[in-house]
Amino acid sequence: MSGQLKGEKVFRGIAVSAGVCRGKVVVLHRARHAIAKRELSVDEIGAEVKRFEQSLVRTRQQITEIQRRVSTTMSSSEADIFDAHLLMLEDRVLIEEVIKIIREQSANADYAFHTASDRYIAVLEAVEDEYLRERASDLRDLTGRVLDNLLEVKDQFDLRHLKEPCILVGHDLSPSMTAQLDKKFVLGFVTDIGGKTSHTAILARSLDIPAVVGAKSISEELETGDYALLDGYNGTVIVNPTDQTLFEYGQLAKIKATLGEKLREVQHQPAVTLDGKAIHLSANIEDQHDVAAVTAHGAEGVGLFRTEFLFINRESLPTEEEQYTVYREVAAALKPDSVIIRTLDIGGDKFASHLQLAQEMNPFLGWRAIRFCLAQPELFRAQLRAILRASAEGNIRMMYPMISGLDELVQANAFVEKCKAELRAGKIPFDENLEIGAMIEIPSAVLVADTLAKRVKFFSIGSNDLIQYTLAADRTNEKVSHLYEPTHPAIIRLIKMTVDAAHANGIWCGVCGEIAGDPILAPLLVGLGVDELSAAPAVIDQVKYMIRRVKLAEARQLAEFALASESPTQILARCMEFARQNAPSLFDGKA
Ligand code: PEP
Ligand code: MG
Repeated sequence: MSGQLKGEKVFRGIAVSAGVCRGKVVVLHRARHAIAKRELSVDEIGAEVKRFEQSLVRTRQQITEIQRRVSTTMSSSEADIFDAHLLMLEDRVLIEEVIKIIREQSANADYAFHTASDRYIAVLEAVEDEYLRERASDLRDLTGRVLDNLLEVKDQFDLRHLKEPCILVGHDLSPSMTAQLDKKFVLGFVTDIGGKTSHTAILARSLDIPAVVGAKSISEELETGDYALLDGYNGTVIVNPTDQTLFEYGQLAKIKATLGEKLREVQHQPAVTLDGKAIHLSANIEDQHDVAAVTAHGAEGVGLFRTEFLFINRESLPTEEEQYTVYREVAAALKPDSVIIRTLDIGGDKFASHLQLAQEMNPFLGWRAIRFCLAQPELFRAQLRAILRASAEGNIRMMYPMISGLDELVQANAFVEKCKAELRAGKIPFDENLEIGAMIEIPSAVLVADTLAKRVKFFSIGSNDLIQYTLAADRTNEKVSHLYEPTHPAIIRLIKMTVDAAHANGIWCGVCGEIAGDPILAPLLVGLGVDELSAAPAVIDQVKYMIRRVKLAEARQLAEFALASESPTQILARCMEFARQNAPSLFDGKA
């Protein structure tokens, strides 16, 4: 189709990660069709068996081709993976089982293959032998390939095979896939669907890769090899950019370079308003490798360590020991600054393939975060012990995600006490004064914040979720992104109520959702009385630059205006006006 895209063409989406890049496009697989069972008539069965066999032949051809292409760049042990895949493809027991399901249940081949291979995968995963267990992941890979052929999903692509820098284009990128992106090869990415606070978008900002989501059918319209420019400031993707466009972007790059210099100047200055109010500005991280960026951008420690990224993209749970090593490394590197470790927040849009959780109708309202951990005592215990042990080596704090009410908080605290007692009995050191906080990200938690505040040492507002749950607007769904309004009066009031409840009970209150890293909204949060802002390392400089250019007294007036206003757009407009007046250079080059 792209052959028709001779001239410049602009695609619009949602800007989620700043920066501009240009290069060749690589289109990832399209949306996967659901695998449903179809009842075949008797005379369709023969053809269906044939279709299955053809898909195996096709898969064999593809694997051989990939093997040939990568043999020059991969070691022989990596190339062996493909030999294992080819052997599995010839496994007569599996093939016979699939044919049996097609014949006996008059079922379609994709359903039959999916059912049979799932059974195999489950058996392999349950065996003791590590080598055999690893074959389960090979079979999962292979199953994906065969199903792509049966379902005619085109252009399945393995990110490990990228050889040169490119712009990834896909229907969607899961957070787990995004976490694996290698900046050497991925200049930027664009997806058909997605929202600004989906974890995929959050990871793009964390990796500092320009990204656009919600660009509708872009993955259908572009083809691998097309040339594009991706503008992560304004949310556009320009295919076949003209010389004029390239010239304009050259000018933008100059403006941004000048701004970069200004931002570098404040990097190691304190985040203090013109009238002397200090704001604690910390960073959000996903793993130990982000620590260098925390220091480089001048953040004061970590306000949110999203530990779930230690649990995904692997074949088994991380042990207590492994987690301890990571938490200790982060805490030791940032000492004496504090590191707030959030206990596991799996579920919602983040899944660990090895946990084999049943699909839920509404995962964001389902078995997620603290709900999941309280129901998985062994898993929770390992993490809590790891955090507690690491607290002996640095300045660690801990917080629970998705607290909906007092019971969960009391249960979680009791769990921690049990772990502490165990450690004391084993004479294993930990920080007896480790501070525990609660994330406030469910409206019910705001409404009972006074009760919660008496049992914790701090609050951290998870605005990403607070907005989605309050406004009933899925944070990952671009179709409702117009309803996902951080400046909705309901959100402003909830933030104020949380801050007030915290202060009335003598504890501090931070914000670690994406609004904390938005220089347009940061003054409003400061004016509402928020004590700490935690954001992706890459945006810390901008927020600090802004804070250093505003007066607390004026930020308070802005907050008063917002609290009295009835309109989200009016509040947003006033915030933008305030930000542009105080720090105009931050907005140079923005559409
Ligand atoms: C939030 O909800 O604002 C938050 C910081 O947590 P997460 O984005 O990981 O859900
Ligand atoms: Mg959250």
